[in-house]
Amino acid sequence: MLRGIRARGEKCGVFAIYTRQGEVAKLTYFALYALQHRGQESAGIAVSDGSDIMLMKDMGLVSQVFSEGDLNSLTGHLAVGHVRYSTTGSPFWENAQPIEVPWRRGSLVVAHNGNLINTDELRAELEERGQRFRSTSDTEVIALLLARSEAPDIEEAVLEVAPRLRGAFSLAIMTEDRIIGLRDPYGIRPLCVGSLRDGYAVSSESCGLDIIGADYIREIGPGEMAIIDADGLRFRRAVEERKPSLCIFEFIYFARPDSFLYGTNLYHARKNMGMALAEEAPVEADIVMPIPDTGIPAAIGFSQASGVPFGEGLIKNRYVGRTFIQPTQDIRRLGVRLKLNPLTLDIRGKRLVVVDDSIVRGNTTREIIQMLKAAGARQIHLRISSPPDKFPCFYGIDTAVQSELIASSKSVEEIKDFLGVDSLHYLSFERLVRSTGRSREEFCLACFDGEYPIPIPEGLGLSKCRLEKENGVRSH
Ligand code: SF4
Repeated sequence: MLRGIRARGEKCGVFAIYTRQGEVAKLTYFALYALQHRGQESAGIAVSDGSDIMLMKDMGLVSQVFSEGDLNSLTGHLAVGHVRYSTTGSPFWENAQPIEVPWRRGSLVVAHNGNLINTDELRAELEERGQRFRSTSDTEVIALLLARSEAPDIEEAVLEVAPRLRGAFSLAIMTEDRIIGLRDPYGIRPLCVGSLRDGYAVSSESCGLDIIGADYIREIGPGEMAIIDADGLRFRRAVEERKPSLCIFEFIYFARPDSFLYGTNLYHARKNMGMALAEEAPVEADIVMPIPDTGIPAAIGFSQASGVPFGEGLIKNRYVGRTFIQPTQDIRRLGVRLKLNPLTLDIRGKRLVVVDDSIVRGNTTREIIQMLKAAGARQIHLRISSPPDKFPCFYGIDTAVQSELIASSKSVEEIKDFLGVDSLHYLSFERLVRSTGRSREEFCLACFDGEYPIPIPEGLGLSKCRLEKENGVRSH
């Protein structure tokens, strides 16, 4: 999937660190760099020296937001960082994270990956109590609920507030002297813990630990919190664990391929998906090529299983950046042209197997197919390493509304015709799950089957995503 010009927005990335040996702001900066794929809209770092918290955040990429001078001025031994792609709230400064609110005689900061589905209710309750808001994000609601708690400390405040939050949340919370990593009871968004010299770190993905030389310890379990302070690291249950429901799209393309989830390396899982595609839908062809970058591991897997040589047919301009995250169709089309360029000599007259991870609206895919045809491709066989994406997400992924998801209204045959390819195959549900090495019960697969693990309030479903029951959406 071409990030930034498709309909599905990425999620956020969170990171936190506690160490007295090392410059925590710089370590956080590098970790956010590793997590940049999870959000390119804004970046922020909050640092505490044990008594005061300093926060710096702005719109833009990590490298655009912080100068070396900025990082040098953020001194302390605890830090929380965040990269954001808006899911709730609009993309403006106040919604950039971490969010800082007054707490006792100081402040607390919260960084959030996910999306609450009862934000309106919680916000209304706070407003009734006279609370004013600076942002439109659900993260501020969480921070204010914590700050208003009368519990004796932050740990107890989390125990009080966590059961009230419904939806997806992987949080990094920091007071002057303590860090808490917290994961929702379904474990929809990832969060893991690692150790480093005289300290610990919490990261959305293990790649955020790797880059700072931290050793991976384990994932924070659903409903669990990891508490890091002067006494070290300990785990504690914050809310009763429900059916584990990690978002399957983390496996398909969201998370970086060098990260591990559920103990599985995502590059290998994606290669398995490509191998399964080759078994399910073999085809005579000259080259297997990915839509870069996320289609690469599956294309390699397809090539290895089928014996059809792997080749690059499209070169991606990796420096276009966020300039092309624009909503209009015209700009999206321009974005495709500027972001990908076909290797005409390698494509002309060839029968291509083109591998991608998913199709959202289908417009970008059609543009790419047209580009390959214009470059002289003789046949194009499209293989998708996930099942048809029919249902919207309420848990922190900025999907198209349901009526815009091409597979919600068109059959595979109709999509094939719309895209103008010679054949089209989506990976089966069963082989997708088998490729992860885990069982179906451990995932949220709602994009494919409409079975939302956390019941979606009717109003939210109807107003936000225009769910149409007659189309078969289950809004529990
Ligand atoms: Fe992931 Fe889709 Fe579930 Fe959202 S609805 S958490 S994108 S599988």
